Amino acid sequence: MALISEVADRIYEIRPEGNGFDRFPLCTVYLIVDEKLALVEAGCPIQAPEITEAIEKLVDDVNKISYVILTHSHPDHVGGIGYMAQRMTNIQFIAYPVVGKLLSDQSALAKMMTGFKRTFGEDALDRFGAMLPVGEERFLSIQDGQSIPLGKRELRAIHTPGHDPYHLCFFDTGSKGLFCGDLLGGYLEEIDIVIPPQTVGTDFSLVLKSLEKLSEFNPTKLFFSHGSMVGNVEKHIQNSGKDIKNCQNIVHKGLLAGDDKKKIAEKLLEAYPNLSDMATSQMSDPKYIQRALRWVDSYTWYLKKMNML
Ligand SMILES: [Zn+2]
Repeated sequence: MALISEVADRIYEIRPEGNGFDRFPLCTVYLIVDEKLALVEAGCPIQAPEITEAIEKLVDDVNKISYVILTHSHPDHVGGIGYMAQRMTNIQFIAYPVVGKLLSDQSALAKMMTGFKRTFGEDALDRFGAMLPVGEERFLSIQDGQSIPLGKRELRAIHTPGHDPYHLCFFDTGSKGLFCGDLLGGYLEEIDIVIPPQTVGTDFSLVLKSLEKLSEFNPTKLFFSHGSMVGNVEKHIQNSGKDIKNCQNIVHKGLLAGDDKKKIAEKLLEAYPNLSDMATSQMSDPKYIQRALRWVDSYTWYLKKMNML
């Protein structure tokens, strides 16, 4: 059963149960209640029933929801759209321009699931569910600088590439909070730590530039798509930047010294700033070792792209 809490004025967090990495990659979905109702993120396909159930507790009719706003097209964020499109007949999906085309194409979805299996194991489909395509006509495109009016508040789109080229953050003028998707990574509220993105294909220099772009909005809260809402924004943004550089250096040094991937993964876990015993023990668990190796892969991919190896 999803955990529901009001984390800002009329913004409800719908969060999967579980601790730390056990919860990954299940997504936290937010419901914004204003003159128009909107969800931010759709979550994994397997989350669709419990997200719908949570919405039914908060809203008398799920068909009152106008929009599902998507920060980017990774399967753990958009996986539930096919189920939502069937269940909530009036909704439109809002995302970066190319995303609608991608998510309406069955062969593009199959490719995405292949990447997802590489990250989360061959049984990813059983654990997180299969995606259904949604007709392109159900999508509205949004670009950097455009806004989504919801009533008393609006959400301003900020193009924040790095984790994904089509990644958007959304600044809520009502709460002064920022829906940050995966730009900073995920937040482990149990230990108040942000874990930076670990996905192969992440351009870390673009992540750093995108983080800088956030300061002009001066958000007072971050609504994480993995984890929960958190204050102390400046500290978390600064730490994210530092952690990304630190992880990059560890992997770079290890690769230049000829260390194998497992050894580099262990160095990342040991040296990772502020990572507590809980996170370290979870990440050292054999079932997460594949995850830690992918963490190394993500920096290796980036260092090669930048011709640094
Ligand atoms: Zn992502």
